[in-house]
Order: sequence, then structure tokens, then C-alpha cells
Amino acid sequence: MKQILFGFLIICFVFLVACNNETETTSQGKSESAESDGTAVKEEKEEKDENGDSDQSGIEETPTVEPQYMVSDNWSLVPMKEGVNENVVLLTIDDAPDKYAVEMAKTLKELDANAIFFVNGHFLVTPEQEEMLQEIHDLGFSIGNHTFNHVTLPDVSEEEQKEEIVSLNDRIEEIIGERPVFFRAPHGANTDYSIEVAEEEGMTVMNWSYGYDYFKPYMDAEKLAHAMVTGEGPEVDISYSLLKPGANLLMHDREWTLEALPDIVNGLREKGYEMLDPNLIQNH
Ligand SMILES: [Zn+2]
Repeated sequence: MKQILFGFLIICFVFLVACNNETETTSQGKSESAESDGTAVKEEKEEKDENGDSDQSGIEETPTVEPQYMVSDNWSLVPMKEGVNENVVLLTIDDAPDKYAVEMAKTLKELDANAIFFVNGHFLVTPEQEEMLQEIHDLGFSIGNHTFNHVTLPDVSEEEQKEEIVSLNDRIEEIIGERPVFFRAPHGANTDYSIEVAEEEGMTVMNWSYGYDYFKPYMDAEKLAHAMVTGEGPEVDISYSLLKPGANLLMHDREWTLEALPDIVNGLREKGYEMLDPNLIQNH
């Protein structure tokens, strides 16, 4: 009898321990699921918030910005009405995105300076190059059309001119989801027809006021910065200053230009110039 009772007690003990374990397991399970539920709710909420934000920024991105500057006949930027700061310069970077454009964009972003990057289609072939363009665009810079193959437009047929311009807009749209609103012909060489095509594409055509980074004596950061900030290039026979309110400044995707950027931007600011936001330029 004692043995039976002992056996019964052991069974009860085992049962209790088992029940207890089960409860623990269950409560652990519950608390885990409660935690994960909590996280899920939080994530869902964050997602909603993100959606909310993106909706809002979508509204902000709608082009409600009123144009304040127009491109003049000599390619400088002039205020369209009184009260608009005329002491601005427009920074432009051509032949991108080759080797230094992304670094240039990051540098300009750090300096809080705006610019247009004029790109070529032959630099937009590989996935890495596509990413470079996307990154420049994501940093907030305007992407301009500089023809697909950097051809001298007057040297090719009208059919080719159109192809050079339109196919690059298609390519850019494929990558960043937007078509350019600015066009600059290689070497500044347009034809009546290329201007017509660019305008049909809804782009504003512009050459530039001055630039020095493609002249041998200025392929040096210090010399280049000095030339860009003074507007003078005595070593290429420009002994007077081309820096004027609204000047359209030409630079390229080059190592010495990247290195000179902070001095160029800071030097121009010290002279009282603001780097113009391309979004304020009246579009064709
Ligand atoms: Zn070029």
C-alpha cells in the first residue's frame, strides 16, 4: 500500500513538474508572440508614417517653384523681376559621370552649393555608371543633357543630332525616372536644328560664361580655383575678369576641379555671390 501511495505521489510530482514546464513554455511562447506582435504593430505604424511622409514630400516635389531667373543671350542668368538677388553664379559640371562626378556632388552637397551635372550617354552604360547618376540625382542635383556620344553637332546629320539628344533623355529617364530640363551642346556648338530638338524636348539650352579647367595651365587645383574666383585667366589671354552677376560657370568631371571645388565655392561666396539653385531657372 505504501508503495502504491509512493508511486502515486511520484506520478503527481512528475505531472506537476510537466505542467509547470508547459506553463513556462506557453508563457514564454505567449510573451514572444506578444513581443513580435508589438514589433509588427510598430513596424506597420512606421510604414504608415513613411507612407505619410512620402506622400507629403510628393506634394512638396510638385513643381510649384516660381521661376526667378532666365538664361540670357550670353548664357548668364538674369533675374526676372525686382527684388531677386542678381549676385548669383550657376555652377555646371560637364562630361559626367566619368570618374569624379559623384565625389564632386558629395563635395558640393557638403558645401550646400547647387549645380547642374551635364551628362553623356556613353558614361551611362554599366550598372555602376547608372548608380553614379542615381546618386548624383539623389543628392539633389539637376541632371542636364550633353548628348549621348559627345559629338560636335554641326558635324553630323539632322537625324543623328536628334538621336544624340533624344536617346540620352530616354536613357536618363530610364535610370532616374525624369527627363532633363537643361541642354548643353558639346563644345557649345549647336545648330538651329539641335536647338529646335532640345526645345521640343522641353529643355532650356545654355552654353556658359567662362571656365578654365580644360586649359593646360589651369589643370591644377590652386591655379584653377584662383581663375574661377577672379574670373581671370591670364595664361590663356584672358587678362580681364569674366566674373559678373549671373555668370554661368563651366567645369568638368576632372580631378583638379574636384580638388578645387571648396576653394571655388568659398571664394565666390566671399565675393558676395550665391550659388544659384537651377530649379529657379525658367524652363523653356
Ligand atoms: Zn563636354
